[in-house]
Amino acid sequence: RFITLEGGEGSGKTTMIRHLDKYLESRGLTHMTTREPGGIEIAEKIRSVILDKAHTSMDARTEALLYAAARRQHLVEKVAPAIEAGMLVLCDRFVDSSLVYQGYARGLGMEEVGSINRFAVDSWQPDLTFYLDIEPEQGLARIAAHRENEVNRLDMEDISFHHKVREGYLHLVHQHPERIVVIDAAQQPEQVLQQMIEILAKRVLE
Ligand code: C5P
Ligand code: MG
Repeated sequence: RFITLEGGEGSGKTTMIRHLDKYLESRGLTHMTTREPGGIEIAEKIRSVILDKAHTSMDARTEALLYAAARRQHLVEKVAPAIEAGMLVLCDRFVDSSLVYQGYARGLGMEEVGSINRFAVDSWQPDLTFYLDIEPEQGLARIAAHRENEVNRLDMEDISFHHKVREGYLHLVHQHPERIVVIDAAQQPEQVLQQMIEILAKRVLE
């Protein structure tokens, strides 16, 4: 089974993946958690090229192609073998992120970005996707308060970019109501986690 987490900045994906990892561990399930872009050496290197603050001249299509390349390598090297070995794989971001960030928010077009991603991932698709929905203002405030990790190129985008990201996700939710479950990420982390666990239990674990 393949499960992905999606959401804008400060929506809490990384924190939730960590909690879900512990939960699955406690249930004794064979599982793996990973993230995009990254998760393996080649893809982490591509990630740092994309997110480097110095690369302000990066063209939007170049960026989209790099994400797709990182995704491809991560999929064939890590995700697909784990799923084929029967593991539950939980991934922080996947194709939806590119449709939304590069396709919608950067304006390349969801269809166009969809087509390079179909080339990258063949027929691989998440069985279930959690979209952690939060007002961009609230998400960014959280990051400002808590984030210990890198300041990246995307942190220099203005608020309207993040509103577009949210709009893009809501379009996707509308297109794939079966696969994508919206979680209100403004709730307390315990509640967010509880809701995700309930859905996992119902849709994946039984
Ligand atoms: O998931 P995480 O927040 O670590 O992502 C790192 C950065 O990459 C974020 O700033 C995110 O907005 C950006 N990103 C992007 N396009 C993607 C995936 C991530 O702009 N397809
Ligand atoms: Mg994160």
